[in-house]
Amino acid sequence: MTAAETLADIRARIEKAAKIADRKPVVTLIAVSKTFGADEIRPLLEAGQRVFGENRVQEAAAKWPALRDAFPGVELHLVGQLQSNKAAEAVALFDVIHSLDRASLVAALQKAMEASGRRVPCFVQVNIGDEPQKGGVAIDDLPALLAEARGAKIPLAGLMCVPPADKEPAPYFALLAKLAARHGLSALSMGMSSDFETAVQLGATHVRVGSALFGTRETH
Ligand SMILES: *Cc1c(COP(=O)(O)O)cnc(C)c1O
Repeated sequence: MTAAETLADIRARIEKAAKIADRKPVVTLIAVSKTFGADEIRPLLEAGQRVFGENRVQEAAAKWPALRDAFPGVELHLVGQLQSNKAAEAVALFDVIHSLDRASLVAALQKAMEASGRRVPCFVQVNIGDEPQKGGVAIDDLPALLAEARGAKIPLAGLMCVPPADKEPAPYFALLAKLAARHGLSALSMGMSSDFETAVQLGATHVRVGSALFGTRETH
């Protein structure tokens, strides 16, 4: 399949999943291009895709300025963990951040946003499966972190999660949706290549799809 055909296929699957759940297909497809180079990204840009995700600040800074010059209207999302010392660079480069997960990062982002005058919407990442090795705020600590972010005037987009790899994801997506509703947040960043249709059925507004669009990648 060409990039345009693959993209059309993923979009059709999103629409179908939304229809089954009786949702309007108001789902943003984030093409996660981590590890892939400009030559692999360009065909998707040419096919009309404009929303992309990266998981490393450095990698994104190396790849995207030139692609952005060539293709106006690109929206870049940071989907990977963010170190506080890279907050300023992330705020300058990304249009949305999906990995706000701790108070120290709230402080670093607040400082970076105030210094630059750029207010970047953030998803708060929730460690939905309570996995020690994973990023994300513990469910019990979510209310305090949201209060902290609101106090720091960080624009909150919604909640984000990555369910445990070896478990059925639906209950985790449903839980994230419930937490978002409880806290008055409307956007849900959930669903990857293997489970984005389930995520859409359970209310995802943003799906983060990498390998289904770009092919398999070296582990990263
Ligand atoms: C890599 C990555 C994705 C995309 O994963 P695929 O399984 O390739 O679709 C989505 N979200 C995050 C946070 C990622 O790091």
